[in-house]
Amino acid sequence: MVETTVFTSDDIKKAVKVLREIRPAYVEMLEFYEQLFMTQESSKNQIDIEPIRISDQELSIKIKEKFPLINSAEFAIDIEASKKLFVFICEAATKTKAAMSATAGKLMSSIDAALDLETLFAGILEGDDGPFEKTAKALGIEKNVLAFFAYSSIKPSVMLCAEQLSVYLKQQDPWQQGYCPVCGTSPVLSMLEAEGARSLICSFCWHKWPVKRVFCPYCNTTDSNILHYFFSENEKEYRVYTCENCKKYIKTIDTKNAERLIYPPLEHVVTMHLDMKANEMGFSSEYPAPQ
Ligand SMILES: [Zn+2]
Ligand SMILES: [Zn+2]
Repeated sequence: MVETTVFTSDDIKKAVKVLREIRPAYVEMLEFYEQLFMTQESSKNQIDIEPIRISDQELSIKIKEKFPLINSAEFAIDIEASKKLFVFICEAATKTKAAMSATAGKLMSSIDAALDLETLFAGILEGDDGPFEKTAKALGIEKNVLAFFAYSSIKPSVMLCAEQLSVYLKQQDPWQQGYCPVCGTSPVLSMLEAEGARSLICSFCWHKWPVKRVFCPYCNTTDSNILHYFFSENEKEYRVYTCENCKKYIKTIDTKNAERLIYPPLEHVVTMHLDMKANEMGFSSEYPAPQ
């Protein structure tokens, strides 16, 4: 069975409604992200991607070597659905007061002419900054915003592909690594769940996998003397784990202390203040901050 995490538009609306009340600083951002996440989830339900096949022989080598199932360049993308989503995202972003609005406006007027979306989508998958550098310079726009729009457009395909691939993980022993068993990317969030269980969530394909409770996913240390966490009394559902060895941090949701539906991409957005705090304390992350 394919492991799927289905979130309906109603789930996202409900989660946003609660967050508007408890995190008023994010109200404006939530307007954009509510639309973005709802559209991404409904796009994911509509796209049709041929599942990636991995032979038994390939799979046994990957398991033995602790290699992820694929690398990010191998994700299958529904190009037409991604292009449609790109236009939708630009339109939604032009209506916000955020800095990304100016970039979105310029992109809207170049969509038919100068913009090679397929190359940009490939650039995201291959981790190639070149096409973003070039397009941002040519159009006079923010490179990071362009990359965020491009990634957000292919995200439904990437997530669906990861769900399809997760069947192969059922045959493996628990992965326990700090990188994603599907695509090898670093985690964006960690979750503390019932009975001391901990999971990590991939910053690229959003696959969730169980790990041991005390360890740094970035350098693998298990030394509890150098692994710390901070949290705020007002936000008991969040912890930020820091590592003195590699100076990285990971935002963590303690689901026992969260009396609401947890939609991880939304939690990532409304915890930007924790990214700032961790950065101020001298810790860095391995994923781009939300826009
Ligand atoms: Zn992944
Ligand atoms: Zn570390």
